[in-house]
Amino acid sequence: MISPILILNCGSSSIKFSLSDPDQGAHVLSGLVEKLDSPGALLKWKGAHGGERELGLAGHREALRGIVGLLHELNLSCSGIGHRVVHGGEHFRKSCLVSEESMESLRANQHLAPLHNPVNLLGIEAAREAFPDLPQVMVFDTAFHQTMPERAYLYALPYDLYETHRIRRYGFHGTSHRYVCEEAARRLERPLEELALISAHLGNGCSAAAVLGGKSMDTTMGLTPLEGLVMGTRSGDIDPSLHEFLCKLLNMSLAEVSDMLNKKSGLLGLSGRTNDMRELLQAEQEGDNRASMAVTVFCYRLAKAISGLMVGLGRLDALIFTGGIGENSIPVRQRTLDLLPFLGLKVDVEANQSHGLDQNGRISLGTSPCALVIPTDEEIVIARDTATLIR
Ligand code: AMP
Repeated sequence: MISPILILNCGSSSIKFSLSDPDQGAHVLSGLVEKLDSPGALLKWKGAHGGERELGLAGHREALRGIVGLLHELNLSCSGIGHRVVHGGEHFRKSCLVSEESMESLRANQHLAPLHNPVNLLGIEAAREAFPDLPQVMVFDTAFHQTMPERAYLYALPYDLYETHRIRRYGFHGTSHRYVCEEAARRLERPLEELALISAHLGNGCSAAAVLGGKSMDTTMGLTPLEGLVMGTRSGDIDPSLHEFLCKLLNMSLAEVSDMLNKKSGLLGLSGRTNDMRELLQAEQEGDNRASMAVTVFCYRLAKAISGLMVGLGRLDALIFTGGIGENSIPVRQRTLDLLPFLGLKVDVEANQSHGLDQNGRISLGTSPCALVIPTDEEIVIARDTATLIR
């Protein structure tokens, strides 16, 4: 037995944390410090009675000291820290202990994720100060996809861009895809090594992955998390000429087009209303045609991506739905599966209504292939990897 692991997910303006037991797979405490670097930084937590407190003007360092103080007051201890790190590039094929050497390699990858990796690094440095005696581990969103073959990860660009700058497809949401695939094998009572799976992680960010024998063969996200499926506010795939086209047509700067593609597109852009799938489905019921069109495009593009991922698999044992939308949205699952009859998938309407809860997650008719709903748990993957490395 090992005492719980503190999991940190450091963003630019917030730190999400949880204290999780890797052996029991349970979360003792979870929380968030939000509005970092503003005078109103706020620490909120659930579990252990829950609560919130103001931290005043707090950056990452002060926020982490606030978390240390909270654990101390609640009399909670931890045996190590697991950091969620967005981009591990090609160097990090699996999770690793934080050391001077691994930090240096992470710094060398900063150019691949200029928005995320610098704050992840800052979080690790601040955590080393706040918890000087605890071993720390980095767990990467990209690592799971490092098994993708060349044919899936290369862009058809001048090869020199790959050789010199490592411009290629990496994929993200690796901890989630990994968790739900392992869980699918457990539920199907078959070894992961013999399964052909497609996992659809549908949250505010969305990606799907083809996983053969537990190894990622292809995925929809690329060099950055903008590629692939339609997401809450991200466009997913677009014509690569769009930047130039809009710069000329509307006199927009490159930064403005990128901002639009990342923050004002996807479900939000199409509907002109919200990035929240629940609200869109409600609006559709009330007759909002644009909300309806946004959901239709979302499901069509998802189904199209799933059928494309089949090329990397050759056969299918199960399609897994996860993430806030995948786990909860009955109509999105139904409308997506209705577009995929040629994969041999047919919705079990009743099971879909109850999110497959009475059938071990299964929401399709027939035995194979099947569609499963599996709630993801990225924190538990981080806790387990951390525990394994510090043991
Ligand atoms: P996540 O990023 O995994 O937390 O997922 C966020 C997305 O899940 C948002 O688009 C939510 O609208 C969506 N979501 C959460 N609950 C539901 C629900 N009951 N029905 C449809 N979408 C939901």
